[in-house]
Amino acid sequence: MFYRLGLIGYPLAQSKSPPLHSAALQAAGLAGSYQLFPIAPPDLEGLSALVQRLRQPDAPEGLHGLNVTIPHKQNVIPLLDDLAPTAQAVGAVNTLIYRNGRLLGDNSDVPGFLHDLQRLAYPHLAGPSRRALVLGAGGSARAVVYALLLDGWQVALAARRLEQAQELAAALQTAGAVECLHLTAAGLRALTPTLIVNTTPVGMLPFPEASPWPAELAFPTDAVVYDLIYKPPRTQLLRHAQQAGLAAFNGLGMLVEQAAVSFERWTGVNADRSAMWAAVEPAQPNPAD
Ligand code: NAP
Repeated sequence: MFYRLGLIGYPLAQSKSPPLHSAALQAAGLAGSYQLFPIAPPDLEGLSALVQRLRQPDAPEGLHGLNVTIPHKQNVIPLLDDLAPTAQAVGAVNTLIYRNGRLLGDNSDVPGFLHDLQRLAYPHLAGPSRRALVLGAGGSARAVVYALLLDGWQVALAARRLEQAQELAAALQTAGAVECLHLTAAGLRALTPTLIVNTTPVGMLPFPEASPWPAELAFPTDAVVYDLIYKPPRTQLLRHAQQAGLAAFNGLGMLVEQAAVSFERWTGVNADRSAMWAAVEPAQPNPAD
């Protein structure tokens, strides 16, 4: 069998998914390809036509698995037959799987983040207290907050627009309570988190000098910092946290792990994480490594 896999989103030029999945295919000894399908909004017809190709995997144009990224993680939902519980809870889909005549949407960002957090951050947690502070309340924050609630964390969510945090908290209320705050020094001063997760794009290239952490606020002692950004590999937030003596990690592991989980759903074969890591960042390991 030749696995025809791919990614829908826009823009996709910078995507690391093709080398990740090519490495996983090769390491598993499977024939296949992973193609980029840039679909600019509002081309919902193009999106639908592409998704339907999953329903005919044996046709010449058929596909065996698709990832979905910005801006289509929600747009794609009406085109599906079923949502996995995780995708349902988060309200976003990043993995499409066709099984037994039905098209299923799942979300591998949730296990992707959680597995990487457990791998990197857990060994550095000072004690049993699980108090997380999540910065930013956009799409990835939904997956992160849901993952943390599932994992038993007490979660505070800080956003520059409080109403955005409140909306997210309301959407996830069946999974647990979330405290909502303004992302300002005054808003965060009273907190003593043991984990800080950045889900804002602040500090990403081309603005590597920016940090989402308020400059006038000291870092809490003994917290671990996880930044979803991986370009650059050491953001200003990670640098400052490390200078303050905190353990600090970027989000490349989440990217690798969500890809591995998607790959396993499509092929039923274990993904070789080492081969996938080697394909994306051989020269720039995580600060922890
Ligand atoms: P998103 O849906 O646009 O959400 C971004 C959030 O950050 C929003 O709450 C936004 O608030 C806030 N924000 C933006 N600029 C801000 C600023 N200057 N100060 C304070 N808050 C600000 O984006 P996303 O999809 O969640 O992605 C966020 C980041 O995570 C990106 O850097 C992305 O590359 C990264 N990411 C990494 C992985 C991984 O696998 N490692 C996975 C997903 C995402 P407003 O709505 O007010 O602008």
